[in-house]
Amino acid sequence: MNSQQIEELERMFGDKFTTLPETLQRYSRDETSHIEAMPEAVVFAGETGDVASLLKYCSDQRIPGTPRGTGTGVSGGALPIEGGVLLALERMNRILEIDVDNRMAVVQPGVRTGELHQAVEAEGLFYPPDPASLESCSIGGNVIEGAGGPRAVKYGTTRDYVAGLEVVLPTGEVLRLGGKLRKNVTGYNLIGLIIASEGTLGVVTEITLRLLPLPPVRTDLLVPFETFGQAAHTINEVLKTGIIPTVIEFMERRALEIVEAYLDSKLPVPGAGAYLMIGLDGADTESVERDYEKVGEVCLDNGAVDVFVAETSDMKQRLWKTRRSLHDALHDLSPEMEREDVVVPVARIEDLLKGMDEIRRNVKVEIVAFGHAGDGNVHVNVLRGKLDEETWNTERKRVLEELFTLVISLGGTLSGEHGIGLVKKEFMPLVTSEAELELYRRLKQAFDPAGILNPGKIF
Ligand SMILES: Cc1cc2nc3c(=O)[nH]c(=O)nc-3n(C[C@H](O)[C@H](O)[C@H](O)COP(=O)(O)OP(=O)(O)OC[C@H]3O[C@@H](n4cnc5c(N)ncnc54)[C@H](O)[C@@H]3O)c2cc1C
Repeated sequence: MNSQQIEELERMFGDKFTTLPETLQRYSRDETSHIEAMPEAVVFAGETGDVASLLKYCSDQRIPGTPRGTGTGVSGGALPIEGGVLLALERMNRILEIDVDNRMAVVQPGVRTGELHQAVEAEGLFYPPDPASLESCSIGGNVIEGAGGPRAVKYGTTRDYVAGLEVVLPTGEVLRLGGKLRKNVTGYNLIGLIIASEGTLGVVTEITLRLLPLPPVRTDLLVPFETFGQAAHTINEVLKTGIIPTVIEFMERRALEIVEAYLDSKLPVPGAGAYLMIGLDGADTESVERDYEKVGEVCLDNGAVDVFVAETSDMKQRLWKTRRSLHDALHDLSPEMEREDVVVPVARIEDLLKGMDEIRRNVKVEIVAFGHAGDGNVHVNVLRGKLDEETWNTERKRVLEELFTLVISLGGTLSGEHGIGLVKKEFMPLVTSEAELELYRRLKQAFDPAGILNPGKIF
């Protein structure tokens, strides 16, 4: 950007605009390991009009503009790799309405996911998507990444709850799509296209979300298995019972050891090869108890050492704190790592976990797995640890190539919820035909003719 453009933006946005070096530095990183990119300026949007006038200016002047929620992304999506303006949406953080009669919430994009949970639960309603980052990530970021979470096994991902969007196009036009509707097939599904578009097609400035009645009873089980293979096998055995758990999270022993050391607290369960964390909910205590007894039996039949029921709210909180701290614990151990979130058809999850276990026997990097195995999505974390640059680069590449080859052979794909962003874009040709990529280019051109919105991401 030249000095005239900086002055014009300052005039347009006043104290919402800054080029202070410490602010630029703060917005040069997200939660993606070891990558940073400095914006030339930051605009803190307070309303839709700010977003529209900024994007129009950027399009007219051919200045890159990169939207950002709260910066918890792990695929580098919010990093302004071509400089320009960082569009911070964190101040657009109001819950505009909780419509109890229609079971809908209308929110600004900067609302934190955990805050929305609390607000709707106070009304006896339920917003299921629960990324492990829920205390810090924004709903806008969730929509734009198509975020999932443990409860996706039963309730699906963010995509399943978006009924309406206000979107500002890169040219500055404002679209209002959908509304408080349970069904709507009027015209092309532009809402579906914007979800998981990783901030490359438009900026979301208002979101209407479907809500459910809050299930009255919720229980969590923690089930240790002697071997990794037994836990991997049991995931599908549980799903075959016909009971749909809210959650089936997989955690191998090493993951639990790392997080226990990080939190300096131990869960009261014996050491084991791997663990399943299984959540169940329902209308009454009897039906939930019936379900967990059946699920518990299946686990014991398949090699579980024991089945622990988190009866007290203290135990539930400890369990979830442990699960949600895994990302941070790994980061603490190895600030540089590859965080893959590959996904396969759910019936192939055992093959994925066992195949990944094979891969790591022959490489020099440490690999730690955990994640939302009940919906086929596993986080495979490749840790650099203390490896020198050359070994890290060679081994990292080898692991990723072998992992992606395995995933594709199982009918899976690169990302279940974290997105492609910057870090996985070189692998897109593995799963996307040239015809599909060409269509992406034409869509991008239709939405963003000047090519200014979050350039350099996905493909
Ligand atoms: C500890 C930890 C645990 C996590 N667990 C999960 C998990 O369980 N499930 C999961 O899905 N993800 C998880 N994530 C990843 C991350 O939290 C999600 O991708 C989240 O949706 C990002 O939201 P954000 O507000 O931080 O977005 P940002 O990181 O700020 O941005 C992400 C992308 O969205 C774009 N963007 C943001 N807001 C808008 C907007 N309003 N309009 C247009 N574009 C926008 C940005 O340009 C960028 O491309 C985890 C991350 C961490 C650090």
